[in-house]
Amino acid sequence: MMQHVYDFNEGSLEMKELLGGKGSNLAEMTRLDLPVPKGFVITTATCIDYLEQGEELDAMTQSEINAALIRLEESSGKGFSDTENLLLVSVRSGATISMPGMMDTILNVGLNDANVARFAQITQDERFAYDCYRRLLQMYGNVVYGIDMKHFDNILNQVKRNKRYSQDFELTAEDLKAIIDQYKDIYMEIAGKAFPQDVKAQIMGAVEAVFKSWNNDRAKIYRKLNNIPDSIGTAVTIQEMVFGNKNEESGTGVLFTRNPSTGEDQLYGEFLLNAQGEDVVAGIRTPISINRLNESMPEIYTELLDMTNKLEQHYKDMQDVEFTIEDRKLHLLQTRNGKRGAKSAFKIAADFVNEGILTKEEALLTIDPESINQLLHPTFDEKDLAQAELVTDNGLPASPGAATGHIVFDAETAKEWSELGKPVILVRHETSPEDIEGMSVSEAIVTNHGGMTSHAAVVARGMGKCCVAGCDVLEINEEQKSLRYPGGSLIEGDIISVDGDTGSLYVGAIQTRNSDLDENYHTVMSWANDIATVKVRMNAETPLDIQAGLDFGATGIGLVRTEHMFFQPEPLSELRRFILSNSDNERKDALESILIHQQNDFREIFELIQDKPTVIRLLDMPLHEFLPNSKQDIEIVASQQNVSVEDISQRLTGLKELNPMLGHRGCRLAMTYPGLYLMQAEAIMLAAIELNNKDIAVKPEIMIPLVSTERETAYLREMIQERIEALLEEHQVQLAYTIGAMIETPRASLIADKIAQHSDFCSFGTNDLTQMAFGYSRDDAGKFLNQYVNEGVLAYDPFQRVDEEGVGALLQIAIENIKKVNSTMKLGICGEHGGNPKSVELFASLGFSYVSCSPYRIPIAQMSVAQSAI
Ligand code: ADP
Ligand code: MG
Ligand code: MG
Repeated sequence: MMQHVYDFNEGSLEMKELLGGKGSNLAEMTRLDLPVPKGFVITTATCIDYLEQGEELDAMTQSEINAALIRLEESSGKGFSDTENLLLVSVRSGATISMPGMMDTILNVGLNDANVARFAQITQDERFAYDCYRRLLQMYGNVVYGIDMKHFDNILNQVKRNKRYSQDFELTAEDLKAIIDQYKDIYMEIAGKAFPQDVKAQIMGAVEAVFKSWNNDRAKIYRKLNNIPDSIGTAVTIQEMVFGNKNEESGTGVLFTRNPSTGEDQLYGEFLLNAQGEDVVAGIRTPISINRLNESMPEIYTELLDMTNKLEQHYKDMQDVEFTIEDRKLHLLQTRNGKRGAKSAFKIAADFVNEGILTKEEALLTIDPESINQLLHPTFDEKDLAQAELVTDNGLPASPGAATGHIVFDAETAKEWSELGKPVILVRHETSPEDIEGMSVSEAIVTNHGGMTSHAAVVARGMGKCCVAGCDVLEINEEQKSLRYPGGSLIEGDIISVDGDTGSLYVGAIQTRNSDLDENYHTVMSWANDIATVKVRMNAETPLDIQAGLDFGATGIGLVRTEHMFFQPEPLSELRRFILSNSDNERKDALESILIHQQNDFREIFELIQDKPTVIRLLDMPLHEFLPNSKQDIEIVASQQNVSVEDISQRLTGLKELNPMLGHRGCRLAMTYPGLYLMQAEAIMLAAIELNNKDIAVKPEIMIPLVSTERETAYLREMIQERIEALLEEHQVQLAYTIGAMIETPRASLIADKIAQHSDFCSFGTNDLTQMAFGYSRDDAGKFLNQYVNEGVLAYDPFQRVDEEGVGALLQIAIENIKKVNSTMKLGICGEHGGNPKSVELFASLGFSYVSCSPYRIPIAQMSVAQSAI
């Protein structure tokens, strides 16, 4: 029979799937003898059942909860109706994969009209007791009855205004009682029902509300953005309350065991005295740095240090900890592996290895390959920055990076403008989970409340997005869409620049430049490269890109796209002449002049890449992309070739294809016009010979694209080889080169063994292969792919992450067959999937020799191949 409820001391971290992250970690900390208030967990499986069975808690679950509550009364030494020791609980949500702030938690459950006065007597603090009750009514009303928080806030603010208070804690017990009465009216007005006075009813209602919150909109959006399955559900933790809002000897806080932006080995976090729960992260009161705790309660600070060391040693990872102090006694309420920026991740990985906590392999696994993107993030150009007009330098550098954009004051406008292609900076008092989508499209996020652990900061770091938080000199008017700062004012649409490394804001745009990578990065990356068995090459053809790829440590080029060279006007017009001419002489002429351009291009590439292997793909252009289509272009071509516009137009009509991506392209064009590939092969080898004369042994790997039959491959290969041999003979040189096939049609994958017999290497073009395997046009699929992914028709976009089921099967068949005829065949991946971690994982498992991707994805691919090798 299924067990629905586990006490903390029955569980452990290994039960994370069933108990959720929060629940299993509370159980684990209980096992470690850390001071965790007592409690129990209702499983994620119960949540799924509840949601599937028409949202009703079955009798079994209810009786297990009741039994656990009795055990909790015993173990805590308190009781729900104990007049001496009143037990209150929190009802907390927590899925297996952390979704910070996405679902709901209710505190102080168990208070009611009858016991609140008693609670006041026990605690000898009437104000405190009624404040707890006030908070319960507020959270319960919002979470369980769906009453908008603003109704409660309005009442509270009204009282504060009337009494001229600036802080919540100035409210007296009498004020709070009056507020509570008004809150109860709100229940009746908005929800039409009263707050449940029965404690069991409160708890069951709260449990159901947490289960239901799994399906609230912001949780759904968060899951979509983070690829978290909808099917895993949330657990519910019920835990004895401890009170950080009891007095000035109490407080609550959150901390990271190391600095989450820089990785420095020091406690990093914030706390508030006399405060409860969400007060710290909500960004309403500005919290105090954790270091100051060392001044006010040094013994607690030391205790925290000890505990966090213990946690790091045990979890072998940096921790993100929630704690509460009640009457100078410390309680831990949550721990989890801390999210961190990439810079910090590298430092922590390097430090943990030095401290002997992790092996190099384990350390590598702590790094999220995709996050490395952040390190390649731009910073502002120093000269430009020095001249920029400062708005303020008093913000908190909450998430690194540098960005320029138009100010918007709400998430809606952020979405609208960014869809129009306008870069935006989202500026808000504070962000809330409702703002997530708007945040995800913004270049940067600025808030004027809240600290380094506020919603804005945490979410921005997760997204790898620049963020400046707690910029409290900004007077933001979200209604009027404007802001004032000491030196001036700005309105919606104005351009500002945000420096997430320093916490400064500037008027106008500032030049950015790429940031350099620090020592920790190089240390950890060198471990990665030592461990990796699959090599990483780059897809590149311009000097700038090739240099960037080399700087990142690319081991060669996996794809030179030779058609990109025809983006220049002169070679393009010669190519047009070649295609559109009717005269053999003219064609020959055109090819000769293209050859010179190509040879120059190849020489330039070889000079940079030297003796690293370089795959050069022979021309693969969908014809329509290269033919003239405007009237003016046609006239130019006609006059160049000395023929009439009608002639050219006629030729163009003859060449017109209904479906060019499946048309006369790739090797098919060379079957009709062999001269094209021969010219290219010659240009490659002439350039190679030039370098060879300078004693540089370049390694050209010539690749024939888009083959789908054995004959095409054999015919073109022989033809090219013959020409190259003749050329080498003529120049009296010996030069290593190979000729291979690009496998990117489903048919080629299925007969790859036959193709392999005519190839020195095979490289898989997974972009085209995906396009043809699904029959989705790469250029048009955007129209429905989003919908497919949103509705779960596809688990992910197959153009971003390679489709494991179908395309993966084609790759597997191809490789198995190739290995039968040539067990040592060099097998590569070119195409953007080569820089996608999940895809790389698959490629590595299939036995590829190398992956190739665009230069700025190389570090990501390097980390991915290293992790695949562990
Ligand atoms: P979230 O998942 O949004 O972080 P939590 O369940 O962690 O929600 O609850 C939010 C905050 O409520 C905690 O950080 C903690 O400060 C407070 N809290 C939760 N349970 C208790 C408890 N038993 N005693 C005191 N405070 C609690
Ligand atoms: Mg929490
Ligand atoms: Mg292709």
